[in-house]
Amino acid sequence: MKESNHFIENIIDQDLQSGFDPKKIKFRFPPEPNGFLHIGHVKAIWINFSLAKKYNSSVVLRFDDTNPEKEEQQYIDAIKKDVSWLGYNWSEERYASDYFKQLHDWAILLINNGLAYVDSQSSEEIAEQKGTPTKAGTDSPFRARSIQENLMLFEQMTNGDFSESEHVLRAKIDMASSNMLMRDPIIYRVLNKSHPRTKALWKVYPMYDWAHGQSDYIEQISHSLCTLEFKPHRDLYEWFLDQLVEKTKLRPKQREFARLNLSHTITSKRKLMFLVNKGIVSGWDDPRMPTISGLRKRGFPPEALKEFVRLAGVAKRENIIEASLLEYCAREELNKTSNRVMVVMNPLKITITNYSELEYETLFSENNPENPDSGSREVPFSKELYIEKEDFKEEANRKFFRLTIGKEVRLKSAYIIKANQVVYDTNNNIKEVLCTYDPKSKSGSGTEESQRKVKGTLHWVSRKHCIDIDVNEYDRLFHHENPSSAQTDEELLKMVNPGSIKKITAKAEPFLSSAKKGARFQFQRKGYFVVDSSNPKLVFNKTVGLRDTWKKK
Ligand code: ATP
Ligand code: MG
Repeated sequence: MKESNHFIENIIDQDLQSGFDPKKIKFRFPPEPNGFLHIGHVKAIWINFSLAKKYNSSVVLRFDDTNPEKEEQQYIDAIKKDVSWLGYNWSEERYASDYFKQLHDWAILLINNGLAYVDSQSSEEIAEQKGTPTKAGTDSPFRARSIQENLMLFEQMTNGDFSESEHVLRAKIDMASSNMLMRDPIIYRVLNKSHPRTKALWKVYPMYDWAHGQSDYIEQISHSLCTLEFKPHRDLYEWFLDQLVEKTKLRPKQREFARLNLSHTITSKRKLMFLVNKGIVSGWDDPRMPTISGLRKRGFPPEALKEFVRLAGVAKRENIIEASLLEYCAREELNKTSNRVMVVMNPLKITITNYSELEYETLFSENNPENPDSGSREVPFSKELYIEKEDFKEEANRKFFRLTIGKEVRLKSAYIIKANQVVYDTNNNIKEVLCTYDPKSKSGSGTEESQRKVKGTLHWVSRKHCIDIDVNEYDRLFHHENPSSAQTDEELLKMVNPGSIKKITAKAEPFLSSAKKGARFQFQRKGYFVVDSSNPKLVFNKTVGLRDTWKKK
Protein backbone atom coordinates (compact mmCIF):
# COMPACT_ATOMS: atom_id res chain seq x y z
CA MET A 1 0.00 0.00 0.00
CA LYS A 2 1.36 3.40 -0.91
CA GLU A 3 1.61 5.71 2.08
CA SER A 4 -0.07 9.04 1.76
CA ASN A 5 2.01 12.19 1.97
CA HIS A 6 2.27 14.16 5.16
CA PHE A 7 1.71 17.90 4.99
CA ILE A 8 5.39 18.83 4.71
CA GLU A 9 5.76 16.51 1.72
CA ASN A 10 2.74 18.25 0.21
CA ILE A 11 4.41 21.63 0.70
CA ILE A 12 7.60 20.44 -0.99
CA ASP A 13 5.67 18.79 -3.83
CA GLN A 14 3.82 22.04 -4.43
CA ASP A 15 7.09 23.96 -4.46
CA LEU A 16 8.44 21.55 -7.04
CA GLN A 17 5.30 21.85 -9.12
CA SER A 18 5.68 25.61 -9.11
CA GLY A 19 9.14 25.24 -10.56
CA PHE A 20 11.43 24.96 -7.54
CA ASP A 21 14.72 23.36 -8.56
CA PRO A 22 14.79 19.86 -6.99
CA LYS A 23 18.57 20.08 -6.69
CA LYS A 24 18.16 22.98 -4.27
CA ILE A 25 16.16 21.08 -1.69
CA LYS A 26 18.15 20.92 1.52
CA PHE A 27 17.34 20.36 5.19
CA ARG A 28 18.99 20.85 8.54
CA PHE A 29 18.69 19.47 12.04
CA PRO A 30 19.65 22.27 14.48
CA PRO A 31 20.09 21.03 18.06
CA GLU A 32 21.30 23.34 20.76
CA PRO A 33 24.16 21.49 22.50
CA ASN A 34 22.79 22.16 25.97
CA GLY A 35 21.77 18.60 26.81
CA PHE A 36 21.26 15.15 25.35
CA LEU A 37 18.76 14.43 22.60
CA HIS A 38 15.45 12.86 23.59
CA ILE A 39 12.67 10.91 21.89
CA GLY A 40 11.09 14.19 20.71
CA HIS A 41 14.25 14.99 18.78
CA VAL A 42 14.00 11.60 17.07
CA LYS A 43 10.88 12.94 15.39
CA ALA A 44 12.66 16.05 14.10
CA ILE A 45 15.65 13.96 13.00
CA TRP A 46 13.47 11.39 11.30
CA ILE A 47 11.41 14.02 9.47
CA ASN A 48 14.48 15.75 8.07
CA PHE A 49 16.47 12.66 7.15
CA SER A 50 13.53 10.83 5.60
CA LEU A 51 12.65 13.90 3.55
CA ALA A 52 16.28 14.10 2.43
CA LYS A 53 16.10 10.49 1.35
CA LYS A 54 12.81 10.94 -0.45
CA TYR A 55 13.92 14.08 -2.33
CA ASN A 56 17.43 12.87 -2.92
CA SER A 57 18.93 15.71 -0.94
CA SER A 58 20.87 16.15 2.28
CA VAL A 59 20.74 17.25 5.91
CA VAL A 60 23.14 19.63 7.61
CA LEU A 61 23.79 18.89 11.28
CA ARG A 62 23.95 22.37 12.71
CA PHE A 63 24.75 23.04 16.32
CA ASP A 64 22.89 26.09 17.50
CA ASP A 65 25.67 27.20 19.80
CA THR A 66 24.79 30.80 20.51
CA ASN A 67 24.60 30.54 24.29
CA PRO A 68 27.99 29.70 25.84
CA GLU A 69 26.41 29.79 29.30
CA LYS A 70 24.64 26.49 28.69
CA GLU A 71 26.47 24.68 25.91
CA GLU A 72 29.21 22.11 26.26
CA GLN A 73 31.41 19.91 24.10
CA GLN A 74 30.15 16.75 25.84
CA TYR A 75 26.66 17.50 24.47
CA ILE A 76 28.01 18.02 20.95
CA ASP A 77 29.72 14.62 21.14
CA ALA A 78 26.61 12.92 22.53
CA ILE A 79 24.36 14.43 19.82
CA LYS A 80 26.65 13.22 17.03
CA LYS A 81 26.79 9.75 18.55
CA ASP A 82 23.00 9.59 18.84
CA VAL A 83 22.23 10.76 15.29
CA SER A 84 24.78 8.27 13.92
CA TRP A 85 23.34 5.49 16.03
CA LEU A 86 19.93 6.16 14.50
CA GLY A 87 21.61 5.31 11.22
CA TYR A 88 21.77 8.75 9.66
CA ASN A 89 24.66 10.49 7.91
CA TRP A 90 24.66 14.26 7.75
CA SER A 91 26.22 15.93 4.74
CA GLU A 92 27.89 18.78 6.66
CA GLU A 93 28.66 19.49 10.28
CA ARG A 94 28.14 23.18 10.98
CA TYR A 95 27.97 25.49 13.96
CA ALA A 96 26.10 28.75 14.30
CA SER A 97 29.38 29.98 15.76
CA ASP A 98 30.99 29.43 12.34
CA TYR A 99 28.88 32.40 11.27
CA PHE A 100 29.50 34.79 14.16
CA LYS A 101 31.55 37.14 11.96
CA GLN A 102 28.95 37.17 9.19
CA LEU A 103 26.12 37.67 11.66
CA HIS A 104 28.02 40.54 13.22
CA ASP A 105 28.61 42.13 9.80
CA TRP A 106 24.92 41.85 9.06
CA ALA A 107 24.09 43.47 12.39
CA ILE A 108 26.23 46.42 11.35
CA LEU A 109 24.36 46.47 8.04
CA LEU A 110 21.08 46.73 9.94
CA ILE A 111 22.47 49.62 12.01
CA ASN A 112 23.67 51.37 8.87
CA ASN A 113 20.22 50.99 7.35
CA GLY A 114 18.62 52.50 10.44
CA LEU A 115 17.11 49.11 11.35
CA ALA A 116 18.91 48.40 14.61
CA TYR A 117 19.88 50.42 17.66
CA VAL A 118 21.75 50.05 20.92
CA ASP A 119 19.42 50.17 23.89
CA SER A 120 21.00 51.14 27.20
CA GLN A 121 18.14 50.28 29.49
CA SER A 122 17.94 47.44 31.96
CA SER A 123 16.19 44.26 30.91
CA GLU A 124 13.37 45.10 33.36
CA GLU A 125 12.78 48.45 31.70
CA ILE A 126 12.79 46.85 28.27
CA ALA A 127 10.31 44.24 29.44
CA GLU A 128 7.99 46.88 30.90
CA GLN A 129 7.87 48.75 27.60
CA LYS A 130 6.94 45.62 25.64
CA GLY A 131 3.22 46.14 26.25
CA THR A 132 0.76 43.28 26.10
CA PRO A 133 -0.78 41.40 23.17
CA THR A 134 -3.67 43.89 23.24
CA LYS A 135 -1.72 46.98 24.20
CA ALA A 136 1.05 48.48 22.07
CA GLY A 137 4.51 48.79 23.55
CA THR A 138 6.32 52.08 24.09
CA ASP A 139 9.47 53.23 22.37
CA SER A 140 12.76 53.04 24.18
CA PRO A 141 14.25 56.49 24.84
CA PHE A 142 17.29 55.20 22.90
CA ARG A 143 15.31 54.20 19.82
CA ALA A 144 16.20 57.41 18.02
CA ARG A 145 19.96 57.15 18.53
CA SER A 146 21.96 58.21 15.50
CA ILE A 147 23.51 55.63 13.23
CA GLN A 148 26.95 56.96 14.19
CA GLU A 149 26.31 56.57 17.89
CA ASN A 150 24.87 53.09 17.40
CA LEU A 151 27.88 51.99 15.36
CA MET A 152 30.24 53.32 17.98
CA LEU A 153 28.42 51.73 20.90
CA PHE A 154 28.09 48.38 19.13
CA GLU A 155 31.80 48.43 18.43
CA GLN A 156 32.52 49.13 22.08
CA MET A 157 30.17 46.31 23.08
CA THR A 158 32.10 44.03 20.71
CA ASN A 159 35.41 45.13 22.17
CA GLY A 160 34.33 44.18 25.65
CA ASP A 161 34.22 47.75 26.93
CA PHE A 162 30.91 47.19 28.72
CA SER A 163 29.63 44.84 31.35
CA GLU A 164 26.84 42.40 30.59
CA SER A 165 23.73 44.36 31.46
CA GLU A 166 24.71 47.80 30.16
CA HIS A 167 23.66 47.64 26.51
CA VAL A 168 21.90 45.38 24.01
CA LEU A 169 21.42 45.68 20.26
CA ARG A 170 17.79 45.66 19.14
CA ALA A 171 16.21 45.40 15.72
CA LYS A 172 14.06 48.45 15.00
CA ILE A 173 10.81 46.95 13.79
CA ASP A 174 7.45 47.89 15.28
CA MET A 175 6.63 48.48 18.94
CA ALA A 176 2.91 48.26 18.13
CA SER A 177 3.02 44.99 16.18
CA SER A 178 0.32 42.51 17.10
CA ASN A 179 3.14 39.96 17.23
CA MET A 180 5.02 40.67 20.44
CA LEU A 181 8.20 39.14 18.99
CA MET A 182 8.29 41.94 16.42
CA ARG A 183 8.46 44.64 19.08
CA ASP A 184 12.11 45.52 18.61
CA PRO A 185 13.61 42.14 19.55
CA ILE A 186 17.08 41.97 21.04
CA ILE A 187 19.54 40.57 18.52
CA TYR A 188 22.85 40.91 20.40
CA ARG A 189 23.86 40.90 24.01
CA VAL A 190 27.15 41.36 25.82
CA LEU A 191 28.37 38.17 27.46
CA ASN A 192 31.73 37.73 29.08
CA LYS A 193 31.87 33.98 28.65
CA SER A 194 34.33 31.78 26.88
CA HIS A 195 32.65 29.86 24.08
CA PRO A 196 33.42 26.11 23.60
CA ARG A 197 34.57 26.84 20.03
CA THR A 198 35.33 30.52 19.59
CA LYS A 199 36.85 30.73 23.08
CA ALA A 200 37.40 34.35 24.14
CA LEU A 201 37.07 35.87 20.67
CA TRP A 202 33.60 37.32 21.12
CA LYS A 203 32.19 39.54 23.84
CA VAL A 204 28.81 39.85 22.13
CA TYR A 205 26.62 36.90 21.17
CA PRO A 206 23.70 36.78 18.72
CA MET A 207 20.27 35.82 20.03
CA TYR A 208 18.60 32.66 18.76
CA ASP A 209 16.24 34.35 16.28
CA TRP A 210 18.99 36.37 14.72
CA ALA A 211 21.31 33.39 14.38
CA HIS A 212 18.82 30.78 13.27
CA GLY A 213 17.25 32.06 10.08
CA GLN A 214 20.49 33.62 8.91
CA SER A 215 22.29 30.30 9.41
CA ASP A 216 19.58 28.69 7.26
CA TYR A 217 20.26 31.33 4.64
CA ILE A 218 24.05 30.92 4.75
CA GLU A 219 23.70 27.16 4.37
CA GLN A 220 21.01 27.63 1.71
CA ILE A 221 18.52 25.43 3.50
CA SER A 222 15.36 25.26 1.40
CA HIS A 223 12.92 24.03 4.05
CA SER A 224 13.64 24.92 7.65
CA LEU A 225 11.41 22.66 9.68
CA CYS A 226 10.78 23.23 13.35
CA THR A 227 8.20 22.69 16.03
CA LEU A 228 5.02 24.71 16.45
CA GLU A 229 6.30 26.94 19.24
CA PHE A 230 8.39 28.69 16.59
CA LYS A 231 5.37 29.68 14.55
CA PRO A 232 5.13 33.16 16.10
CA HIS A 233 8.83 33.57 15.27
CA ARG A 234 8.14 33.17 11.58
CA ASP A 235 7.31 36.87 11.04
CA LEU A 236 10.66 37.75 12.49
CA TYR A 237 12.39 35.07 10.44
CA GLU A 238 10.90 36.65 7.31
CA TRP A 239 11.67 40.22 8.39
CA PHE A 240 15.35 39.46 8.94
CA LEU A 241 15.59 37.71 5.57
CA ASP A 242 13.87 40.68 3.92
CA GLN A 243 16.79 42.83 5.00
CA LEU A 244 19.51 40.48 3.75
CA VAL A 245 18.52 38.10 1.01
CA GLU A 246 20.17 38.59 -2.34
CA LYS A 247 17.98 37.93 -5.36
CA THR A 248 20.29 35.29 -6.84
CA LYS A 249 20.29 33.23 -3.67
CA LEU A 250 17.78 30.79 -2.29
CA ARG A 251 15.46 32.18 0.34
CA PRO A 252 14.78 29.54 3.03
CA LYS A 253 11.31 29.03 4.38
CA GLN A 254 10.30 27.98 7.84
CA ARG A 255 7.44 25.53 8.36
CA GLU A 256 6.23 24.11 11.65
CA PHE A 257 5.04 20.69 12.78
CA ALA A 258 3.62 19.52 16.11
CA ARG A 259 6.17 18.36 18.63
CA LEU A 260 6.11 14.81 19.88
CA ASN A 261 4.68 14.43 23.36
CA LEU A 262 4.76 11.06 25.03
CA SER A 263 2.62 10.00 27.98
CA HIS A 264 4.39 9.35 31.32
CA THR A 265 7.41 11.13 29.90
CA ILE A 266 8.97 14.56 29.78
CA THR A 267 10.63 15.86 26.65
CA SER A 268 12.26 19.01 27.88
CA LYS A 269 16.00 19.16 28.18
CA ARG A 270 15.78 21.51 31.12
CA LYS A 271 13.62 19.10 33.11
CA LEU A 272 15.70 16.10 32.10
CA MET A 273 18.79 17.95 33.29
CA PHE A 274 17.01 18.63 36.57
CA LEU A 275 16.48 14.86 37.07
CA VAL A 276 20.16 14.26 36.35
CA ASN A 277 21.37 17.00 38.70
CA LYS A 278 19.01 15.91 41.45
CA GLY A 279 20.34 12.36 41.23
CA ILE A 280 16.89 10.94 40.49
CA VAL A 281 18.55 9.06 37.63
CA SER A 282 22.16 7.96 37.20
CA GLY A 283 22.79 10.26 34.25
CA TRP A 284 21.44 11.42 30.88
CA ASP A 285 21.80 7.84 29.65
CA ASP A 286 20.00 6.18 32.54
CA PRO A 287 17.85 3.44 30.94
CA ARG A 288 14.72 5.05 32.41
CA MET A 289 15.39 8.34 30.62
CA PRO A 290 13.53 9.19 27.39
CA THR A 291 16.86 10.30 25.90
CA ILE A 292 18.20 8.51 22.85
CA SER A 293 21.19 7.38 24.90
CA GLY A 294 18.89 6.12 27.68
CA LEU A 295 16.68 4.25 25.24
CA ARG A 296 19.79 2.74 23.65
CA LYS A 297 21.05 1.54 27.02
CA ARG A 298 17.60 0.19 27.72
CA GLY A 299 17.85 -1.92 24.57
CA PHE A 300 15.53 -0.13 22.15
CA PRO A 301 16.73 -0.75 18.59
CA PRO A 302 17.05 2.37 16.41
CA GLU A 303 14.55 0.86 13.95
CA ALA A 304 11.93 0.76 16.71
CA LEU A 305 12.40 4.46 17.50
CA LYS A 306 12.10 5.42 13.85
CA GLU A 307 9.06 3.24 13.32
CA PHE A 308 7.51 4.78 16.41
CA VAL A 309 7.80 8.36 15.16
CA ARG A 310 6.57 7.26 11.75
CA LEU A 311 3.44 5.75 13.32
CA ALA A 312 2.97 8.79 15.56
CA GLY A 313 2.71 10.82 12.37
CA VAL A 314 3.54 14.31 11.19
CA ALA A 315 0.79 16.80 11.82
CA LYS A 316 0.09 20.39 12.75
CA ARG A 317 -1.83 19.76 15.93
CA GLU A 318 -0.26 18.82 19.28
CA ASN A 319 -1.29 15.57 20.93
CA ILE A 320 0.08 13.08 23.42
CA ILE A 321 1.16 9.70 22.12
CA GLU A 322 0.79 6.69 24.42
CA ALA A 323 4.12 5.41 25.69
CA SER A 324 2.83 1.88 25.00
CA LEU A 325 3.12 2.58 21.25
CA LEU A 326 6.87 2.91 21.66
CA GLU A 327 6.98 -0.40 23.52
CA TYR A 328 4.85 -2.02 20.84
CA CYS A 329 7.36 -0.92 18.20
CA ALA A 330 10.22 -2.32 20.27
CA ARG A 331 8.46 -5.67 20.67
CA GLU A 332 7.70 -5.95 16.97
CA GLU A 333 11.32 -5.29 16.06
CA LEU A 334 12.88 -7.39 18.83
CA ASN A 335 10.62 -10.34 18.12
CA LYS A 336 12.09 -10.48 14.62
CA THR A 337 15.70 -9.90 15.57
CA SER A 338 16.55 -11.20 19.02
CA ASN A 339 17.65 -14.69 19.93
CA ARG A 340 15.77 -16.60 22.61
CA VAL A 341 17.47 -17.77 25.77
CA MET A 342 16.32 -19.26 29.06
CA VAL A 343 16.76 -17.32 32.28
CA VAL A 344 15.09 -18.11 35.59
CA MET A 345 14.43 -14.99 37.62
CA ASN A 346 13.10 -16.51 40.80
CA PRO A 347 14.47 -20.05 41.03
CA LEU A 348 12.80 -23.16 42.40
CA LYS A 349 14.91 -26.32 42.44
CA ILE A 350 13.55 -29.43 40.83
CA THR A 351 15.21 -32.83 40.90
CA ILE A 352 14.58 -35.44 38.23
CA THR A 353 14.67 -38.56 40.37
CA ASN A 354 14.92 -41.03 37.49
CA TYR A 355 17.82 -39.17 35.84
CA SER A 356 21.32 -40.37 36.67
CA GLU A 357 23.36 -38.29 39.10
CA LEU A 358 26.46 -38.76 37.01
CA GLU A 359 25.34 -37.83 33.58
CA TYR A 360 24.27 -34.69 31.84
CA GLU A 361 23.47 -34.12 28.23
CA THR A 362 23.60 -31.38 25.67
CA LEU A 363 20.33 -30.45 24.08
CA PHE A 364 19.73 -28.01 21.26
CA SER A 365 17.36 -25.09 21.30
CA GLU A 366 16.45 -22.95 18.32
CA ASN A 367 17.63 -19.37 18.60
CA ASN A 368 14.78 -17.58 16.92
CA PRO A 369 11.70 -19.21 15.41
CA GLU A 370 11.05 -15.93 13.54
CA ASN A 371 14.39 -16.13 11.79
CA PRO A 372 15.20 -19.39 9.97
CA ASP A 373 18.86 -18.37 9.63
CA SER A 374 19.43 -17.92 13.34
CA GLY A 375 20.43 -21.52 14.04
CA SER A 376 20.40 -23.21 17.40
CA ARG A 377 22.55 -23.36 20.51
CA GLU A 378 23.60 -25.96 23.04
CA VAL A 379 21.73 -26.12 26.32
CA PRO A 380 22.97 -28.48 29.08
CA PHE A 381 20.41 -30.64 30.86
CA SER A 382 21.05 -32.56 34.10
CA LYS A 383 19.42 -34.09 37.16
CA GLU A 384 18.93 -30.83 39.07
CA LEU A 385 17.25 -27.91 37.39
CA TYR A 386 15.71 -24.56 38.21
CA ILE A 387 12.32 -23.39 37.08
CA GLU A 388 10.45 -20.23 38.11
CA LYS A 389 8.81 -20.37 41.53
CA GLU A 390 5.61 -19.04 40.02
CA ASP A 391 5.52 -21.97 37.59
CA PHE A 392 4.77 -24.46 40.35
CA LYS A 393 1.76 -24.82 42.60
CA GLU A 394 1.12 -27.81 44.82
CA GLU A 395 -2.54 -27.65 44.06
CA ALA A 396 -4.07 -25.65 41.32
CA ASN A 397 -7.28 -25.28 39.40
CA ARG A 398 -7.65 -26.48 35.85
CA LYS A 399 -6.65 -23.15 34.38
CA PHE A 400 -3.11 -23.47 35.75
CA PHE A 401 -1.16 -24.96 32.84
CA ARG A 402 2.13 -25.07 34.62
CA LEU A 403 3.65 -27.62 37.01
CA THR A 404 1.53 -29.15 39.74
CA ILE A 405 1.64 -32.43 41.64
CA GLY A 406 0.63 -35.35 39.49
CA LYS A 407 0.60 -33.33 36.24
CA GLU A 408 2.97 -33.12 33.30
CA VAL A 409 4.59 -30.18 31.56
CA ARG A 410 7.23 -29.91 28.88
CA LEU A 411 10.55 -28.31 29.62
CA LYS A 412 11.37 -26.15 26.60
CA SER A 413 13.60 -27.95 24.08
CA ALA A 414 13.97 -30.85 26.56
CA TYR A 415 11.71 -33.49 28.12
CA ILE A 416 8.26 -33.89 29.55
CA ILE A 417 8.38 -34.05 33.33
CA LYS A 418 5.86 -34.90 36.00
CA ALA A 419 5.86 -33.50 39.55
CA ASN A 420 5.55 -36.14 42.26
CA GLN A 421 6.49 -34.74 45.63
CA VAL A 422 7.33 -31.53 47.44
CA VAL A 423 10.26 -31.32 49.85
CA TYR A 424 9.99 -28.68 52.58
CA ASP A 425 12.65 -26.95 54.63
CA THR A 426 12.43 -26.57 58.41
CA ASN A 427 10.33 -23.40 58.01
CA ASN A 428 7.84 -25.27 55.92
CA ASN A 429 8.83 -23.46 52.73
CA ILE A 430 9.13 -25.41 49.53
CA LYS A 431 12.75 -26.46 49.14
CA GLU A 432 12.47 -28.50 46.00
CA VAL A 433 10.09 -30.50 43.90
CA LEU A 434 10.84 -34.10 43.01
CA CYS A 435 9.89 -34.98 39.44
CA THR A 436 10.32 -37.78 36.98
CA TYR A 437 10.98 -37.38 33.27
CA ASP A 438 9.89 -39.34 30.27
CA PRO A 439 13.21 -40.33 28.62
CA LYS A 440 11.51 -40.89 25.28
CA SER A 441 9.94 -37.44 25.10
CA LYS A 442 13.06 -35.48 24.08
CA SER A 443 12.11 -32.52 21.88
CA GLY A 444 12.95 -32.96 18.25
CA SER A 445 13.93 -36.63 18.67
CA GLY A 446 11.15 -37.72 16.35
CA THR A 447 9.69 -40.31 18.71
CA GLU A 448 5.99 -40.60 19.27
CA GLU A 449 6.52 -39.39 22.84
CA SER A 450 8.36 -36.30 21.64
CA GLN A 451 5.19 -35.29 19.78
CA ARG A 452 3.03 -35.81 22.83
CA LYS A 453 1.01 -32.73 23.69
CA VAL A 454 1.00 -31.47 27.28
CA LYS A 455 -0.68 -28.31 28.51
CA GLY A 456 2.28 -26.15 29.43
CA THR A 457 5.89 -25.47 28.39
CA LEU A 458 8.30 -24.02 30.93
CA HIS A 459 11.73 -22.45 30.66
CA TRP A 460 14.46 -23.86 32.92
CA VAL A 461 18.21 -23.99 33.49
CA SER A 462 20.54 -26.72 34.68
CA ARG A 463 21.55 -26.08 38.29
CA LYS A 464 25.17 -27.03 37.94
CA HIS A 465 25.69 -25.33 34.57
CA CYS A 466 23.81 -22.08 35.00
CA ILE A 467 25.46 -18.73 35.68
CA ASP A 468 24.32 -15.88 37.90
CA ILE A 469 23.53 -12.66 36.06
CA ASP A 470 22.46 -9.26 37.32
CA VAL A 471 19.25 -7.97 35.86
CA ASN A 472 17.73 -4.50 36.05
CA GLU A 473 14.00 -4.35 35.62
CA TYR A 474 12.36 -1.00 35.04
CA ASP A 475 9.01 0.55 35.52
CA ARG A 476 7.99 3.99 34.27
CA LEU A 477 9.95 6.87 35.72
CA PHE A 478 6.73 8.84 36.33
CA HIS A 479 3.55 7.39 37.71
CA HIS A 480 1.71 10.50 36.50
CA GLU A 481 0.37 10.28 32.98
CA ASN A 482 1.40 13.78 32.01
CA PRO A 483 4.48 14.85 33.96
CA SER A 484 4.94 17.78 31.53
CA SER A 485 1.98 19.37 33.26
CA ALA A 486 4.03 19.94 36.44
CA GLN A 487 4.19 23.66 37.13
CA THR A 488 7.19 23.50 39.41
CA ASP A 489 10.21 21.25 39.96
CA GLU A 490 8.74 20.19 43.31
CA GLU A 491 5.56 19.11 41.58
CA LEU A 492 7.60 17.15 39.05
CA LEU A 493 9.46 15.37 41.86
CA LYS A 494 6.16 14.28 43.35
CA MET A 495 5.27 12.60 40.08
CA VAL A 496 8.42 10.45 40.10
CA ASN A 497 7.74 6.76 40.61
CA PRO A 498 9.92 5.71 43.58
CA GLY A 499 9.96 2.06 42.44
CA SER A 500 11.11 2.51 38.87
CA ILE A 501 14.10 0.18 39.15
CA LYS A 502 14.37 -3.32 40.56
CA LYS A 503 17.67 -5.19 40.69
CA ILE A 504 17.67 -8.96 40.74
CA THR A 505 20.13 -11.80 40.34
CA ALA A 506 18.89 -14.47 37.97
CA LYS A 507 20.00 -17.93 36.84
CA ALA A 508 20.88 -18.03 33.17
CA GLU A 509 21.87 -20.77 30.77
CA PRO A 510 25.69 -20.79 30.35
CA PHE A 511 25.46 -19.56 26.75
CA LEU A 512 24.93 -16.04 28.09
CA SER A 513 28.38 -15.90 29.70
CA SER A 514 29.76 -14.98 26.27
CA ALA A 515 27.06 -12.41 25.47
CA LYS A 516 28.51 -9.26 23.92
CA LYS A 517 27.90 -5.73 25.18
CA GLY A 518 24.78 -4.31 23.59
CA ALA A 519 23.49 -7.74 22.49
CA ARG A 520 19.73 -8.12 22.73
CA PHE A 521 17.89 -11.27 23.78
CA GLN A 522 14.44 -12.51 24.46
CA PHE A 523 14.42 -14.22 27.86
CA GLN A 524 11.75 -16.75 27.13
CA ARG A 525 8.38 -15.96 28.66
CA LYS A 526 9.92 -12.90 30.39
CA GLY A 527 10.66 -10.18 27.89
CA TYR A 528 13.45 -8.50 25.97
CA PHE A 529 16.78 -7.70 27.56
CA VAL A 530 20.04 -6.08 26.48
CA VAL A 531 23.58 -6.47 27.80
CA ASP A 532 24.48 -3.15 29.43
CA SER A 533 27.32 -1.65 27.39
CA SER A 534 28.73 0.61 30.05
CA ASN A 535 29.07 -1.96 32.80
CA PRO A 536 32.24 -4.09 33.01
CA LYS A 537 30.14 -6.81 34.66
CA LEU A 538 27.56 -8.88 32.80
CA VAL A 539 24.40 -6.91 33.51
CA PHE A 540 21.15 -7.15 31.60
CA ASN A 541 18.67 -4.30 31.29
CA LYS A 542 15.06 -5.12 30.59
CA THR A 543 13.79 -3.32 27.51
CA VAL A 544 10.12 -4.38 27.54
CA GLY A 545 7.99 -7.29 28.61
CA LEU A 546 6.43 -9.63 26.08
CA ARG A 547 3.00 -8.11 26.52
CA ASP A 548 1.63 -4.69 27.21
CA THR A 549 1.38 -4.63 31.00
CA TRP A 550 0.61 -0.91 31.07
CA LYS A 551 -2.94 -1.43 29.92
CA LYS A 552 -4.19 -2.88 33.16
CA LYS A 553 -2.33 -0.40 35.39
P1 ATP B 1 13.86 21.20 24.65
O1 ATP B 1 12.51 21.82 24.63
O2 ATP B 1 13.88 19.79 25.13
O3 ATP B 1 14.93 22.03 25.27
P2 ATP B 1 14.61 22.24 22.20
O4 ATP B 1 13.56 22.52 21.21
O5 ATP B 1 15.10 23.39 22.95
O6 ATP B 1 14.19 21.07 23.14
P3 ATP B 1 16.67 21.99 20.33
O7 ATP B 1 18.01 21.44 20.53
O8 ATP B 1 16.51 23.43 20.08
O9 ATP B 1 15.84 21.53 21.57
O10 ATP B 1 15.88 21.17 19.23
C1 ATP B 1 16.42 20.80 17.99
C2 ATP B 1 15.29 20.51 17.03
O11 ATP B 1 14.47 19.47 17.55
C3 ATP B 1 14.39 21.72 16.83
O12 ATP B 1 14.12 21.83 15.45
C4 ATP B 1 13.16 21.39 17.61
O13 ATP B 1 12.03 21.96 17.00
C5 ATP B 1 13.12 19.85 17.54
N1 ATP B 1 12.43 19.30 18.69
C6 ATP B 1 12.68 19.53 20.00
N2 ATP B 1 11.81 18.88 20.79
C7 ATP B 1 10.96 18.21 19.97
C8 ATP B 1 9.82 17.35 20.16
N3 ATP B 1 9.38 17.05 21.37
N4 ATP B 1 9.21 16.86 19.06
C9 ATP B 1 9.67 17.14 17.84
N5 ATP B 1 10.72 17.93 17.58
C10 ATP B 1 11.37 18.47 18.62
MG1 MG C 1 15.17 25.03 21.36
